[in-house]
Amino acid sequence: MFIIAGAGHPKTEKHITVKPVHCYHCNNDVFWILEKTKYHITLFFIPVVPYKTEYLYSCSICGSSSKLSKEEFERRVQFETRPYK
Ligand SMILES: [Zn+2]
Repeated sequence: MFIIAGAGHPKTEKHITVKPVHCYHCNNDVFWILEKTKYHITLFFIPVVPYKTEYLYSCSICGSSSKLSKEEFERRVQFETRPYK
C-alpha cells in the first residue's frame, strides 16, 4: 500500500473594504482587499489538516500589501469590509 501525501493546497477567503483607503505606494484612494489563506496538508490530494494561515491586506490597483495579525484581520473584516466575489 502506498500513500500520497502533500502540502500546500491554499484556500483563500476574500473581503473588500466598504470605503476607499489611501495607498501610499500608488497614491490612489481605492478599495483594499483582505485575504485569509489557509494552507493544508493533503492526503490523496484532499486537504486534511490546516498547518498555516496568512492574513494579507492589499491595494486592489498596485497590489502593495502587508501582513496582518489574526486579531487585526478579524476586526477589519467585522467593521470595514464586505465579502468579495
Ligand atoms: Zn496601491
